[in-house]
Amino acid sequence: MGFLSQLFVAVVFGVKRHWHILFAILLGFGLGALYYSLEWEKNPSFSYFLPFFEVVGQIFMRLIRMLVIPLVVSSLIVGVSSLKDARQLGRLGGKVLMFFTLFMVISAVIGGGLTLLLQPGQSVQEALHQAQTLNNSSYLEVFQAAPTDPQKTLLNMIPENPIHSLAEGELVPAIFFTILFGLALAFIGPASKPLITLFESLFTATMKMTEWVMVLAAPGVFALAFVTVAKIGTSIFSLLAPFIMVILVGLILQLFVVFPILLRTLAKVDFLALYQAISEAILVAFGTSSSSATLPITIANCELRAGISNRIASFVLPTGATFNKTGTTMFEVAAVLFLIQAYNIHVEPITVVMVMVFALIASVGSAGVPSSGLITMGIVFTSIGVDFTIEQFAGGVALLWAIDRILDMCRTVVNVVSSCTVATLVAASEGELKRDVLNNPDAWRQVI
Ligand code: ASP
Repeated sequence: MGFLSQLFVAVVFGVKRHWHILFAILLGFGLGALYYSLEWEKNPSFSYFLPFFEVVGQIFMRLIRMLVIPLVVSSLIVGVSSLKDARQLGRLGGKVLMFFTLFMVISAVIGGGLTLLLQPGQSVQEALHQAQTLNNSSYLEVFQAAPTDPQKTLLNMIPENPIHSLAEGELVPAIFFTILFGLALAFIGPASKPLITLFESLFTATMKMTEWVMVLAAPGVFALAFVTVAKIGTSIFSLLAPFIMVILVGLILQLFVVFPILLRTLAKVDFLALYQAISEAILVAFGTSSSSATLPITIANCELRAGISNRIASFVLPTGATFNKTGTTMFEVAAVLFLIQAYNIHVEPITVVMVMVFALIASVGSAGVPSSGLITMGIVFTSIGVDFTIEQFAGGVALLWAIDRILDMCRTVVNVVSSCTVATLVAASEGELKRDVLNNPDAWRQVI
């Protein structure tokens, strides 16, 4: 008993929190798989597990989402208003745009290249047939409500009423307004002082709240992982193994080849140091499948551990969480080409290029919430001019929907890491990367 209690104390209080979170995810997956395979749902002694953990997971999700709007608004205003002039914002914006585009183009090429090379669509005709009978009634409704018009997606970036966008948590228009507002504060000089002080306090207070919420990260992601696997089991994955392989290889290539090379060559940063610094954000992204919800933790990790200045982090990370979804771009390219292959539709090379371009646009238009990458795929389908019947489309999407949560968890990690990588590159190029903090984990604050 003495040993067990010592072990408990050591594990709970002595081990860094990212290990707790990782352990919680693995445990959640393991128990979820057990729940599904032993059919505990039908067993009265265990059936309450699922609704109970659903609530626990949602409590954690809500707690972090609750912080997103106040944190994004306050950090963007503090960051942007500290810019000296519009030229500085222009330079920063130009760099960020260049990196976002570069990252997404690379990911689209990887997704396209791997799918054409490995041809995962060849082996799933049977699975596609089964998919039409899968009981996924919700997906078509979601799709019908999803945006399919690139023009509308673009226009929606500008809010007609910023208060409405903020109240509804619409991140893209909220960011658009906030950047302009922060810039206006920078322009009006001393008159902006009271508001900037107010937003500085708001920022510091929401960071403190993020620290508190992170105490619940391990039980929260445990519950989310458990619910994911307990609901769908693992057998569906073998059906789509070749496609899953393509996605995972693509994401791994980005994480362990593309980003490290860019970090090393452009910023002389060791990727492991950065990944260690943002490990909590990585794990929470994996657990929640939402880069927006992860944003408070991403900002906290980047500023307090990776040594990225507040000015850069507050500008790059919120914009990155909404626009720079390299994992999603890759997924959308691969998924559309995969379905084209699966239905044996012949397409010209120009269509492949169009898939890449529209997947990039669709991923920019997707929100940082679970499965939005799958939903915005509609934009790609309607734009590339390939003749899909509605039944084919529905069958393909049902199939992908069934496995999406797990792939979403993985691509969300890449989305978050890619924004942190861009923030590091920009900070290094602006001389605003504190390398002594990044390279010295002992200097990190313990709490977050
Ligand atoms: N879940 C992803 C994110 O939050 C978006 C997607 O579905 O690809 O970044």
